[in-house]
Amino acid sequence: MWKDKKMIKTKPIRYFAAAMRKYKKGFYIFYAVLIAAMMIQPFINMFGPKMMIDAIMGKAVIISIIKIAAVMILADFVIKLITAFINEELDKEYYAGLDRHLEAAVGKKSMELKFETTENKETLDALADARTGIDSGYSGGSKGLFNSLAILIVNIVVLMLSVFVVCRYSFIPLALVLVNVSLNVFFESRLNAIKIEQIQQLAVTDRAYHYLLHGLSDIRYGKDIRLFNAKDMMLGRVDEFNDKQSEINKTQAKKAQKYLSGSKINQAVTASLTYLLLAMMVAEKKIGIGDFTMLVAAVTTIVTAINLVLKQILELKKFCSYSDKFIKYVEGNVYEEKGDKKTDISDGIKIEFKNVYFKYPGSTEYALKNINATIKSGERWSVVGLNGAGKSTFIKLICRLYECTEGEILLNGVNIMDYEYSSYMKTISAVFQDFCLLNFSIKENIICDRPERIEDDVLMPLIEEVGLKEKVDSLPQGLMTPVFRYYDQSGFEPSGGEQQKIAMARALYKDAPVLILDEPTAAFDPIAEREIYEQFNTMVKDKTAIFISHRLASCRFCDKLLVFKDGEIVERGTHQSLLKLQDGLYAKMYKTQEKMYK
Ligand code: ADP
Repeated sequence: MWKDKKMIKTKPIRYFAAAMRKYKKGFYIFYAVLIAAMMIQPFINMFGPKMMIDAIMGKAVIISIIKIAAVMILADFVIKLITAFINEELDKEYYAGLDRHLEAAVGKKSMELKFETTENKETLDALADARTGIDSGYSGGSKGLFNSLAILIVNIVVLMLSVFVVCRYSFIPLALVLVNVSLNVFFESRLNAIKIEQIQQLAVTDRAYHYLLHGLSDIRYGKDIRLFNAKDMMLGRVDEFNDKQSEINKTQAKKAQKYLSGSKINQAVTASLTYLLLAMMVAEKKIGIGDFTMLVAAVTTIVTAINLVLKQILELKKFCSYSDKFIKYVEGNVYEEKGDKKTDISDGIKIEFKNVYFKYPGSTEYALKNINATIKSGERWSVVGLNGAGKSTFIKLICRLYECTEGEILLNGVNIMDYEYSSYMKTISAVFQDFCLLNFSIKENIICDRPERIEDDVLMPLIEEVGLKEKVDSLPQGLMTPVFRYYDQSGFEPSGGEQQKIAMARALYKDAPVLILDEPTAAFDPIAEREIYEQFNTMVKDKTAIFISHRLASCRFCDKLLVFKDGEIVERGTHQSLLKLQDGLYAKMYKTQEKMYK
């Protein structure tokens, strides 16, 4: 504990204190009253009995003794009441409330990360660490922090006042206390090291363990788990983790045992020596019985206060090292806006790929090589090729989810990275292969905004166009029906086709000049896919559209076809011109796939 140059990184404390001030007004009034009440409590126990004994020994009238006892009991009761009330209020309202804000901050940050970093292990680890940083089980959360801080402040003050009380009689008890505390520091630092080691060892299996538990209780996995009888395998793995974790806990508990025993013996020896010393002072008539009781209480208070101060310093240190990771996550890794240009599409659009090469971060292979293509306003483009050919990567680059490794992509002559991100995003709309709908109403899923801002009539023609009108009309809450039933029983479970129609409506509603359909139909049969693609082609009207598919017939209607193979464009032309290339990849693939449409 004393090894680090800086005992505690105070930044997390300042961060949480500022966050509390920002989100939860009135906290510090409750907190100050709580600290004051906690400070008074030990002195009631210290001075109350002395006053009683002095009164009895001084042969005071019974009524005075009763008065002292009544005041003591009442003060003790009131303080306990205030402490309990404030703690309850802080728990319910303030700590839980702040934790929700902090969790939301992690969520917000995760949505703002640079997309390419979301696929790295480092980001996943940083996210897990950030969650741990505010998890009450590990770091103690905001409650852990403010409780520790309150105990620390209270005990520093109580310690100083108690030392003052004892010193007025003798310095010897303080020497005993010092020996006790030095030994205790040793025991506590050993115990703490064992605890940290234990947490580190448990953390190795923890993520996998939680994944399993989550998987078992996630009803979406239910089909596969039932069908392949994976339950026993998963439960078996849970048991393995449980065994591993209890093994770690047992080993660490064994290591801690001798230090725990040492600490108990230390307390007992100090207490006995203190009693002995003070009893001798009474025998020598240096102090009275009342003073004896008060000094015993004061020495006990000093020992407790020192130990609590040390313990809270360790607690705060633990808290800070965990929550520092939370702060790093929410403050770091910000998406750096490089461009500041606004897009100007008043004269149409022209997207140009110029000698584009791309490697995924951490990958040694090029996923795209020497890509050159020009896409103009109103054109219909089709990107085809076998799985893994590079089609989706081509789209991800247009969507600025990744940056080219070499070469450039231009929009109206300007590198797309030079545009302000939000301005560029307004020009692109897409339905991805793995599109996802949110647990919000159908309307919110389409407009991605608060539903009251848009009239239903504005949306209904689009709903009709994508073929969802009948469904929406049949639902009791119409457009406001929640999609899925995760947290609303009145929700509806859309079929794959309905989900995809909602996603298409969302893409069209955005009203961007470029629309992309990246195989959201992969789960459908080839004929259904072709119909959907043709329907979408009509719906996009005079906009530019890019269609991706590994099924060639789906995109026959496109003016321009790009055939991808191993990250390169190997053929380009119209459907008819490509069919004429006898040994061409497109012609071969088309012949192989033709029978799927018969
Ligand atoms: P397609 O859309 O034609 O099926 P992709 O563009 O998805 O092909 O993939 C092209 C190549 O890039 C494949 O070799 C694939 O394994 C690789 N790839 C795709 N996504 C990633 C990723 N996130 N990280 C590393 N490699 C990837």
